[in-house]
Amino acid sequence: MDSLSSPVEMFFFPFVGGGHQIPMIDMARMFAAHGAKSTIVATPNHALYFQESILRDQQSGRRIFIETLALLDNTDLSNTDMTASALTDTSMLQEPLTKLLLRRRPDCIVHDMFHHWAVGAIDNLELDIARIVFNGNGCFASCIRYNVTKFRPHETVDSKYEPFVVPDLPDRIELTPSQLPAPAFQFVEENMLKATDNCYGVAVNSFYELEPAYVEQSKKGYKAWIVGPVSLYNRSIADKTEHGKKAAIDEQSILSWLHSKQPNSVLYISFGSVGRLAPEQIVEIAYGLQASNQPFIWVVGNVFKGEGTWFPSGFEEKMKESEQGLIINGWAPQLLILEHGSIGGFVTHCGWNSVLEGLSCGVPMITWPMFADQFYNEKLVTDVLKVGVKVGSLDWLTWNMEGQRTVGRDKVEAAVKRLMGGGEESVEMRNNARVVGEMAKKAVGEGGSSYKDAIGLINELEDRRKRTRSDV
Ligand code: UDP
Repeated sequence: MDSLSSPVEMFFFPFVGGGHQIPMIDMARMFAAHGAKSTIVATPNHALYFQESILRDQQSGRRIFIETLALLDNTDLSNTDMTASALTDTSMLQEPLTKLLLRRRPDCIVHDMFHHWAVGAIDNLELDIARIVFNGNGCFASCIRYNVTKFRPHETVDSKYEPFVVPDLPDRIELTPSQLPAPAFQFVEENMLKATDNCYGVAVNSFYELEPAYVEQSKKGYKAWIVGPVSLYNRSIADKTEHGKKAAIDEQSILSWLHSKQPNSVLYISFGSVGRLAPEQIVEIAYGLQASNQPFIWVVGNVFKGEGTWFPSGFEEKMKESEQGLIINGWAPQLLILEHGSIGGFVTHCGWNSVLEGLSCGVPMITWPMFADQFYNEKLVTDVLKVGVKVGSLDWLTWNMEGQRTVGRDKVEAAVKRLMGGGEESVEMRNNARVVGEMAKKAVGEGGSSYKDAIGLINELEDRRKRTRSDV
C-alpha cells in the first residue's frame, strides 16, 4: 500500500491516569473499529492499565497499537497511577513525543489538553499533523466554562452562595461562586480554553441528541466531532470488568449479588477515580444509606484521607448480614454494574464519564459534584435532562479537603427517597433516563449521529492527506 491509500493513521495521546485516560483509550478503540489505524501513545507504566483490551482488539483484527515513550529516568510520572490531576506536569514527555511524531508523521494526533505543553510542541513541528483536542468534557460544560470566563457573571453577586445566571446559554442555568474553580485550578480552566486556539478541531465524548443546542453553540467556536458515548464500545465482559483497572471484585460475586435484588432497586455509589471524601462525610453517607433501607453498592477504598476504615462501628457487618449493602474496596467494574437491571439509581460525583455511563444505561442519578466540570454536569442532569436530583453539595472541594462542608445524613436519606421512592417525580426521572439511554445506544449504532461523526472525521483526514501530501 502506498502512503496515500494506507488507512488513516490517528495518534491518541491520553493523560496519565483517571477519568481522562479511560475515554481516550475507548475513543482510540472506537476509531480502529471504524477502520482507522489507531496508535495510543503512553508511558510504559500507564500502558499496563489498558494493554489487555488492546490485545483483545488486535486479536479480533483491528489495527490498534501502543507506542510507549521511553522515559530517561524513573520520574514521578511513572507513579501517578489513577491519582494524576490536572496539575500533574507531564512536560518530560515532550522530547520522546517529538521524536515519535517526526518519525511517524500520523494524519492526526488527538491529545488531552492536560498535556498543556503539547499545543506548542505539536504546532511548532509544522508537520501537517492535524491537532485535535480532547478535553474530557461535554459541550454543555464547555459552553458554561467559556461563558463564565468571558462574561464573569459571578462578579455581579455579593456572596459565594448567591446564585447568578450564566449568560448567553440555550437554557437558564444558575450557579453560585462557591461552585466555580478554586483559585489553584483557574489556570487549568484558562489552559482548557487556550488548547482549542489554532487546533484542527475537538473530539467530544458525548452524543448530539443529548445536548443539541450546546453542540451547535460549541461548533460556533471550533470544529467538533461528537463521537460518544465511547464506553459503549466495551462489549465483552472482560472489557467491562477491566475498564481502566482490574476490578477489586470478581464478576461472579458482583453479578450474583445483583441478581438477588429486585429490578431497579439498587443504588450504585461511586465518586470516580480521584474523588475522596472526608472521614466525617463517610459517616454521614453510611447513616443516610442505612436509614433509607435501600439496597446499595458503595465503592470506597483507596481514596480516603489516611489509613483505616471510617465507617461507623459495626456498619460493614450489619450491611453484610442484612444484605442491604455491598461495599467494594478499590476499583469497581462500573460498566458491568450500571447495565444490570437491578440498578435503579447512581449516586455520582458527576465526572463526565460516569454521567455518560449512567445515562447510557438509562439510570437516574443523585448528583454529588465536588470539583472540575462536575457542578456544570450536575445542572445538565437535574435541570435540563431532568434525570436526577441534587444531594445539595455546594462547595468546590480542594484536594486537601480544607474547608470542606459535609452533606448531612438527612440530606442523603431524603435524596435517596426522592429518587428511589416510586413517587411521580421518581417515575418521571426514570422514564426520562430510559429515553436518554436509548438515544445513546442509537447514536453509536450504525448510521447514528456519533457513528457518522466518527466516519466523517476519518474521511476528512483521508481527503486532507491527499491534499497536503500529494507530494509523498
Ligand atoms: N471507574 C471504574 N471503577 C471505579 C471508579 C471509576 O470503572 O471504581 C471508571 C468510571 O467508569 C469512569 C472513570 O473511571 O469511566 C471515572 O471517570 P469520571 O469522569 O466519572 O470521573 P473522574 O475519575 O475523572 O473524576
